[in-house]
Amino acid sequence: MPLEIRQFPCLSDNYGFLIRDRETGAVATVDTPDAAAINAALDEAGWRLTHILNTHHHFDHAGGNLALKAQWNCEIIGPKAEAARIPGIDRPVGDGDIVMLGTSKAAVYDTPGHTAGHIVYHFASDAAAFVGDTIFAMGCGRLFEGTPAEMWASLRKVAGLPPETRLYCAHEYTKANAAFALTVDPHNDELKARAAEVDRLRAAGTPTVPTVLSLELQTNPFLRAEDEGLQAALGMIGADPVEVFAETRRRKDSF
Ligand code: ZN
Ligand code: FE
Repeated sequence: MPLEIRQFPCLSDNYGFLIRDRETGAVATVDTPDAAAINAALDEAGWRLTHILNTHHHFDHAGGNLALKAQWNCEIIGPKAEAARIPGIDRPVGDGDIVMLGTSKAAVYDTPGHTAGHIVYHFASDAAAFVGDTIFAMGCGRLFEGTPAEMWASLRKVAGLPPETRLYCAHEYTKANAAFALTVDPHNDELKARAAEVDRLRAAGTPTVPTVLSLELQTNPFLRAEDEGLQAALGMIGADPVEVFAETRRRKDSF
């Protein structure tokens, strides 16, 4: 495990992530939801910030870029397709690019849907993916700038990572996502068990992030558009998965 990962809550329901390459001491923040909270976490760890890895342009993901760059002179890496909207960006990246944090290597994937240029960083050596607002525990990001077909393709890309991959999602939305998931996938026993477990964890104030891809494949309705049980519950047996996904997303938007 070449990476050390520190996670902390910030803003109303975001998570901040600091990652450190053990070999070189290079440190990145994944997104910049709150510069003060990120500095406090750096302070506590005794780490110096060298990189910012942005997933997309939303303010709760890139809003702290300029303050942190002014303070640390760190390199800002972010999505090529929305480079004009990433404050202070030094290096735009997209599908197929590799980002090095010291000796640790991340593969970049384009995952449009939530925003037009959203990207995900996958550190295969650590079985860790920083997925921003593309996928949440039992949920997915709202389609602000993309079509259902784009988002479905993006989710399939994430779903194709090794099943043991830990997914570091940017928000703690899990409890509400579980409540919705049960309405579209009511006979899924893994989902029922997980929803009960999430209630226990949240009652104790325990984070439910990161999640694990294998668990999402079993319980996340936005990855399960091809599942017959879910299709049956929606009255869409045999329908195109993009349509099933789109209907699931529509229902969640008004849940
Ligand atoms: Zn967002
Ligand atoms: Fe967000």
